[in-house]
Order: sequence, then C-alpha cells, then structure tokens
Amino acid sequence: MNDHVIVNNERFDLYLSEEQIHRRVRELAGQLNEDYKDNVPIFIGILNGSFIFFADLIRQITVDCEVDFLKLSSYGDAKISAGQVRLLKDLNCQVEGRDIVVVEDIVDSGLSIDFIKKLISRENPRSFRVVTLLFKKSVSKIDFPLDYVGFEIPPEFVIGYGLDYAQKVRNLRSIYRLSGSKNQEKPRS
Ligand code: 5GP
Ligand code: MG
Repeated sequence: MNDHVIVNNERFDLYLSEEQIHRRVRELAGQLNEDYKDNVPIFIGILNGSFIFFADLIRQITVDCEVDFLKLSSYGDAKISAGQVRLLKDLNCQVEGRDIVVVEDIVDSGLSIDFIKKLISRENPRSFRVVTLLFKKSVSKIDFPLDYVGFEIPPEFVIGYGLDYAQKVRNLRSIYRLSGSKNQEKPRS
C-alpha cells in the first residue's frame, strides 16, 4: 500500500487504510443487520462516489434487502462544491411505505443529502435513514441527524475508495487526503 499518491501533480497522503475502512464497514453493517432484522429495507446508493462503499457494505448485509441507485451531478473537476445539485438518474423502485437506507460516500456541505432526503420524503417512505462512510461534520449544514457514520473527518479534500479527483482515482483501495494540510486531526469513528 502506498503512503501517498500523486494526482494531477498534487500529492495526497494516506489517510484511511484499506484495513481501517473494512473494519468500519463491517461494524456499520453489523448495526444495520441488527436494526433492520425485522424489515426488508431498500438500500439506495448515490452514484458515482458511493459505488465501492456500497458494494462492500451490501455484501456484509445479511437481512433481506433490495437495492437501487440515484445519480446526482458531481463537483465537476473542482475540489469544492458547485453549490447546486441536479438529479441525473431517478429511482426505479416504489418508495411508499418502505424502509429506505441511503448510502453515501461523504457528506460535506450537506447539500446533496438534504436534496436526497427531500426527494425521497415526497414519496412517503415508512422510514428514512442515512449511512455515510465519511462526514465533514464541522462544515455540514444539515438540520437532521446522520444515522450511521463511518468516520468524522476534518473539512479536507479526500480521494480514493470511490471518491474521485476530476473523475479519476476512484479505484484506489485506500483513502488519501490532500497533502500539506495544517489540520492534523485524525478521523474519528
Ligand atoms: P455535499 O453536497 O455534502 O457538499 O457533497 C456531497 C458530494 O460531494 C459527495 O457525495 C461527494 O461526491 C462530493 N464530495 C464532497 N467532499 C468530497 C471530497 O473531499 N472528495 C471528493 N472526491 N468528493 C467529495
Ligand atoms: Mg457522493
């Protein structure tokens, strides 16, 4: 495993190793298996960023479940949010009366998850919960709790394990963060 990667001439340092991520994914799945043992939830992955987390998480789920995907517009090639969200692919499932678990890679400003919550709530689910691998809590503006959080991280740009930089490096097995940050805060799980 590399301790850093270079992308577009910028250096990113290892932040969360494959082992750390997988341990936490198993813990999150354990909680979900317990909480949904009497239900048949629909896990909704938010494309593109969550596809690897989603695939790892869902294979640790042992309760009956269904899956579906939503696709939202991305950051483009920049490192900061464009400040608006667009729906690029809607759901194919019936949400009404169902237990919905949205699976996100990362909640940053909270704009996307707020948009998703409003979109899904309109269809009258029986319940609505969110699992996100990463949460930049200090900069998030959401006014509802995130039910399952893998790691709280400082507001820094991270890549790998599904998360892109200008659409690349989603295939990295670990998570890396932009080097040279003054913030030495460790991820909290
Ligand atoms: P939000 O709407 O909460 O500001 O951002 C949500 C989306 O922006 C995430 O699902 C993710 O796709 C992208 N994003 C937010 N922070 C980061 C980051 O640090 N790295 C990468 N690669 N994408 C991010
Ligand atoms: Mg995302």
